[in-house]
Amino acid sequence: MSYFRPDIDELVGYTPGEQPQAGKFIKLNTNENPYPASPSVVRAVQAVLERGLARYPDPLATGFRERAGAVLGVDPDWILCGNGSDEILTLVTRAFVAQGELLRLPYPSYILYKTLAQIQGARSQEIAFAQDWSLTDDFAAPAAGLRLAFLPNPNSPSGTMLSPARVLELAERLPCPLLVDEAYVDFANDNCVKLVAQCEKVMISRTLSKSYALAGLRFGFIIAQPQIIAGLRKVKDSYNCDALSIAAATAAIDDQEWLADNRRKVIATRRRLTAGLRTLGFQPIESQANFVWAPHPGLPVRPLYEQLKQNRVLVRYMDYAAWGDGLRISVGTDDQIDACLGLLKTMI
Ligand SMILES: *Cc1c(COP(=O)(O)O)cnc(C)c1O
Repeated sequence: MSYFRPDIDELVGYTPGEQPQAGKFIKLNTNENPYPASPSVVRAVQAVLERGLARYPDPLATGFRERAGAVLGVDPDWILCGNGSDEILTLVTRAFVAQGELLRLPYPSYILYKTLAQIQGARSQEIAFAQDWSLTDDFAAPAAGLRLAFLPNPNSPSGTMLSPARVLELAERLPCPLLVDEAYVDFANDNCVKLVAQCEKVMISRTLSKSYALAGLRFGFIIAQPQIIAGLRKVKDSYNCDALSIAAATAAIDDQEWLADNRRKVIATRRRLTAGLRTLGFQPIESQANFVWAPHPGLPVRPLYEQLKQNRVLVRYMDYAAWGDGLRISVGTDDQIDACLGLLKTMI
């Protein structure tokens, strides 16, 4: 006999990429940043520790929202912070989608979205990307009970992006809010922040995990119109971000010079990785993110993933029905990417 809700019993649960806690791996499987964060982050954390942790943190992380608002050109009241952007995704699911209602997502994309719907006891509906990774108007079609749509942009695993103009078209047609997940957008050529003012239905999530090299910190935020933010504030835990992470995130977003330098390095190595994979017969997709999706038309790639792992290089193997399988390789340092490409060369 189980004490759980039947839908929780049925749930398989989201499995994040492997995080080996022992041994020395070259980790190219969860899109972490290979470089250390801005040195000002360490100083900010030390300063908080010296002051002590006896007091509760600012429930609204106002210092962070002011700095982020200045960087992004939005009012601080348009921002709400969370314990990683995964918490932001949980929050919007809880706030907009009731039990039995419908959440829409593209396919293939971030697997967590579906799990969030299941935990909520909601239904989810996947709309397939076209072969060129565009999305047809089907993504915006009305459907019974449709309450929320998720769109990662750039998408994972493809690294491809819809233009802001296309995202706005989809948002305007949709009968519900659209959460544009911009986890990787700092590595892209464009972003959708300006759409938030143009359309109440557009909400944007950002994270400090990837482009600010702070995946271990757990800090993300959402940008939306203030009446949306006000509703979400009612749903969140009072102290969802701790004093250390707020201080660290504020220091990180204040160091835009660090971000620009990191972005330059990652994009240069992404080019090197894409070219190297092409030489080995893969058909890598041009990426706007810090990873490259690489199907191989001539070879089964699962054994390549296994052999890389035996040689202590971790990449992500994924298999999607109509798209087939491929390796998703995070952009590491040049040395890490050379090691990975060197091993692949011996196997192919
Ligand atoms: C990594 C990732 C996130 C999660 O970011 P956190 O802030 O670490 O929770 C959200 N969306 C996508 C598409 C991601 O790849």
